[in-house]
Amino acid sequence: MDRFDLVKESFERKEVPAEVPAGKTSDYFGELVFDRKKMCKYLDAESLHALLDCIEGGHALDRKTADGVAKGMKEWAMEHGVTHVTHWFQPLTEGTAEKHDSLIDYDGKGGVIETFDGKMLAQQEPDASSFPSGGIRATFEARGYTAWDPTSPVFILDDTLCIPTVFISYTGEALDYKTPLKKALKAVSDAAVPICKLFDPSVSKVYSYLGWEQEYFLVDEALYAARTDLMITGRTLFGHNSSKNQQLDDHYFGAIPTRVAAFMRDLEIAGHRLGIPIKTRHNEVAPNQFELAPIYGETNLANDQNQIVMNLMGRIARKHGFVVLLHEKPFDGVNGSGKHNNWSLGTDKGAQLLAPGKDAKGNLQFVTFFVNVLAAVQKHNALLKASIASATNAHRLGANEAPPAIVSAFLGRTMTEVLHKLLEVPSDTPIEIAGKKSKSVGLVEIPEVFVDNTDRNRTSPFAFTGNRFEFRAVGSCANCAGAMTTLNAAVAEQLIAFKADVEQEIAKGKKVNVAIMDALKPIIKSVLGTVCFDGNGYSEEWKKEAVKRGLDVETNVPKMFCEFTKPAAIEMFTKTGVYTEKELEARNEVKWETYVKKVQIESRVMVRMALNHIIPAALEYKAKLLQEVALAKSIYGNLDGCATELKILDDINKYVEEVRVKASAMKEARKAANAIEDGYERALAYHEIAESLFALRRPIDKLEEVVDNKMWPLPKYREMLFIS
Ligand code: ADP
Ligand code: MG
Repeated sequence: MDRFDLVKESFERKEVPAEVPAGKTSDYFGELVFDRKKMCKYLDAESLHALLDCIEGGHALDRKTADGVAKGMKEWAMEHGVTHVTHWFQPLTEGTAEKHDSLIDYDGKGGVIETFDGKMLAQQEPDASSFPSGGIRATFEARGYTAWDPTSPVFILDDTLCIPTVFISYTGEALDYKTPLKKALKAVSDAAVPICKLFDPSVSKVYSYLGWEQEYFLVDEALYAARTDLMITGRTLFGHNSSKNQQLDDHYFGAIPTRVAAFMRDLEIAGHRLGIPIKTRHNEVAPNQFELAPIYGETNLANDQNQIVMNLMGRIARKHGFVVLLHEKPFDGVNGSGKHNNWSLGTDKGAQLLAPGKDAKGNLQFVTFFVNVLAAVQKHNALLKASIASATNAHRLGANEAPPAIVSAFLGRTMTEVLHKLLEVPSDTPIEIAGKKSKSVGLVEIPEVFVDNTDRNRTSPFAFTGNRFEFRAVGSCANCAGAMTTLNAAVAEQLIAFKADVEQEIAKGKKVNVAIMDALKPIIKSVLGTVCFDGNGYSEEWKKEAVKRGLDVETNVPKMFCEFTKPAAIEMFTKTGVYTEKELEARNEVKWETYVKKVQIESRVMVRMALNHIIPAALEYKAKLLQEVALAKSIYGNLDGCATELKILDDINKYVEEVRVKASAMKEARKAANAIEDGYERALAYHEIAESLFALRRPIDKLEEVVDNKMWPLPKYREMLFIS
């Protein structure tokens, strides 16, 4: 099949209608999750109470409880036709891991029966030597173990009961994303509760909330399969811009193409059945780019749900003849994809800590948390950037689309004014809700509902949006836990320090509200002049200004990872109990290694495609032109009529030569880089190779412009981006 057949096939692909279950969404929402409703129905009273205790108190399941829970779970699972069980975990790769075991066992009478007990539920020992561990698990000690995290409900995917677990080495180090995330969530709760108690003594737990927005591209599967680069690396390594891409802004929020809508519907239904509250769907800025978002939830659960959704997207897309691209930058010249992490804190008594309160006390609590978050982001701006950095997200970072490679915070006019005002007024001035009291000079006011939410600044990586912060720098294919662990831990550290400051002020005999405000004022002064920035994050001036303000402007991804093992990070992570120093070092090894492998694969694919696809196509066209020229010469005896052909031949020769030279230089650079022993140094060498991918791309894209369209072997941008 040539390219035109593929284009025709994808253009004519028939829409497959979504399978919509009978009844309302609320009828089938959560039917495949062993949630509290199922627990009450399927568990005996003793197991139920013991399990709820574990969930609320965060302690481990004892064997007896595990057996009781497993019994009820098995009954429920069998009703849904489940035949297999798996521990489902999040190793330091992209995506999740699972190893399915059938439920069957010998019954002692020559047959088999289905079994599932507390042991299978609570703990497993997958041979874990093939997962990245950064050397923590030396190969002779290959065992790691997975243990159920009862705060993440068990769910059913197809015929398999999936048990969300943590993944830990035998010596106790975390080998996954979930373990440190859970530690960070505990740390932020432990640090926030004592501060909340200053306002409401009944508070005993603080929850971290996450609402992720997932951006993605869809490409027809026939075109995808013809693009080796997309298939192997998740992005196009070359491809000339389409004449039209996103410049007319006609895709964003446009009518959703019907084939895409059917995909989205199936995805939503599958998500809803798994208890994932998918809420929003729309077209994104780039052609064939879309977004979905659920209603926010507790961070650990929301993150599991994001992992499940990414998995579902891939499978369901195929039913509709699409492949979903979660890479941060699948196409050059149009927007890439991110995963905005909307984040907030709230108490077990229902107070939102990053939203204005009902009265002056509630508002002071809000300002307290708001300012402390800013302080944490200021102190750890480089680390937060490192937490979202990856070989793939590097294509978005600083590339004139969210986010810039500088982590600053956008407050909006209202909150900026409030902070400035607070510095001017006496510390016991109440912060009122606007409109509730008559206006008087010196009064600090916050609108109850933020009306000017619209002054959203798309260029800010960390933006306040009325009741939450939106961390926009997270990559579309990343595990949110990377960013959420760092953010929650950094905030926890800051809250601990702040509480100590307040205690000191109180010890001086001040009233609590005055003590809090006096502790806040120096922080407000400091953040306003550094991390707070409402201007254009893409501008050159900002880069210079950010350096003056002491913010990190590093753009080299392997170097960014070094932040994790700097003293400030080690202190923060160990004090909050989130990572040990050894874990931090191991994780950096994994990050550098992953970086190297990603770039290595891209570079190999690119060189091979250059040699096997691009140069042959160019030479075929060259041969055709040479034949024409020779024919002209033989008929007319001269080349007077061949100026066009000769010019094109010149171009082809020039670009083909450039491709050949750069491809072989890249191969040599790879060889040299591979010989470097040290993981970090090797990653730095590969960073150079990553840069040179752009240089090799240029002549290839030029050739695409020159070579006869009929002879071009690979689907073009204008085809991949506009067929849906
Ligand atoms: P937009 O694209 O306008 O930023 P979306 O509706 O696409 O907004 O996504 C916003 C996300 O933020 C949703 O997942 C929403 O549930 C979530 N969200 C709303 N309030 C909070 C909050 N207090 N804490 C965390 N996430 C929140
Ligand atoms: Mg959105």
